[in-house]
Amino acid sequence: MTIQLGIPRLPGSSGGLPVPPTRPSGVPAGLLDRFGRQATDLRLSLTDKCNLRCTYCMPAQGLEWLSKQALMTADEIVRVVGISVTKLAIRELRLTGGEPLVRPDLVDIVRALRRQHPDLPISMTTNGVGLDKKAQALKDAGLTRINVSLDSLHEETFELLTRRPFLNKVLAGVEAARTAGLGPVKINAVLMRGINDAEASGLLAWALKHGYELRFIEQMPLDADHGWTRRDMITAAEIRELLSEDFILTPDRRERAGAPAERFQVRKRNAAAGESSGAVLGTAGIIASVTEPFCGDCRRTRITAEGKLMSCLFSREEFDILGPLRSGADDEELTRLWQDAMWIKPRAHGMDHSGLDSADFIQPDRSMSTIGG
Ligand code: SAM
Ligand code: SF4
Repeated sequence: MTIQLGIPRLPGSSGGLPVPPTRPSGVPAGLLDRFGRQATDLRLSLTDKCNLRCTYCMPAQGLEWLSKQALMTADEIVRVVGISVTKLAIRELRLTGGEPLVRPDLVDIVRALRRQHPDLPISMTTNGVGLDKKAQALKDAGLTRINVSLDSLHEETFELLTRRPFLNKVLAGVEAARTAGLGPVKINAVLMRGINDAEASGLLAWALKHGYELRFIEQMPLDADHGWTRRDMITAAEIRELLSEDFILTPDRRERAGAPAERFQVRKRNAAAGESSGAVLGTAGIIASVTEPFCGDCRRTRITAEGKLMSCLFSREEFDILGPLRSGADDEELTRLWQDAMWIKPRAHGMDHSGLDSADFIQPDRSMSTIGG
């Protein structure tokens, strides 16, 4: 459901459309919600389009793409990010999509953002297709670091999962990102039962060998096909179990600071030498959004490619910021709108209820690629 807030907002008047309750006066500045969480991390989607068709995200035929007119322009993105940083205490930006690399003005957007915010960490999540040709330009433009999604190191399995034969392109992209200095390079992997779950250890061994930080993400009910089931998803507990055949995972005791991944120090398992022996080979993470949710410490706010504010991936409400911006709203009005939208962020997504794939969980209409993961 999209809710047009409208500008100006007159007290008690919403033009017949629902509006979020205005934050009480006296609440400190920034993006605070009713449960005391402060959003400091902005996930901004640059496009809904993508050149892969990952089965857990998009249907085989793709989706109806947004028109160019509907997408935020580079200038609008710079304005929105500027408000978030200067008025709302955003301290970290992640560019995502859809696939951000398919946006022709991506490098220009990064350069413009960097010019405005010399010290802001700006990262990007990408599927890596075409990254080999853009990695250096992105680094030179001011991108801080990168996450590349890669679920399989086997061509057939990669194609089964993404419906495209592009494994070599992705591998070239990951390598180029490292060479360009976009590290630490993080690799995102979603495990699917009976498809790539046997690759858990292989993916980790590969990542450790190359110095990448692997993060397994639990499959979430955010696929456009609505094919997700709790029974089929691979849980964080299963991932730990799968990895423990070859590795010893020791929880990293450093403060998570709102990070979604639980991190582990990784050692090679050597049955003969005992559990505690051996050097730490690197770190890995598991993002257990479904079975071990971290909503209580969530620090994220989201903007979709067409300028809708979302307080959570699973929000069933969203608030238009682009419409008011295009209608001439000033920074103060847009700031208030954003604060009001975040104030009503739900306490939790509710996915950790056991009957998730039955009656008590309604999958949101939007799929992951149309929000920005
Ligand atoms: N196209 C880019 C990519 O794939 O990295 C950026 C957008 S994609 C939506 C961001 C991340 O969301 C990827 O790491 C992808 O694996 C993950 N993702 C997509 N659908 C998901 C789902 N249903 N459950 C868990 N993660 C998902
Ligand atoms: Fe595209 Fe990323 Fe979705 Fe895969 S996960 S279909 S690469 S947006």
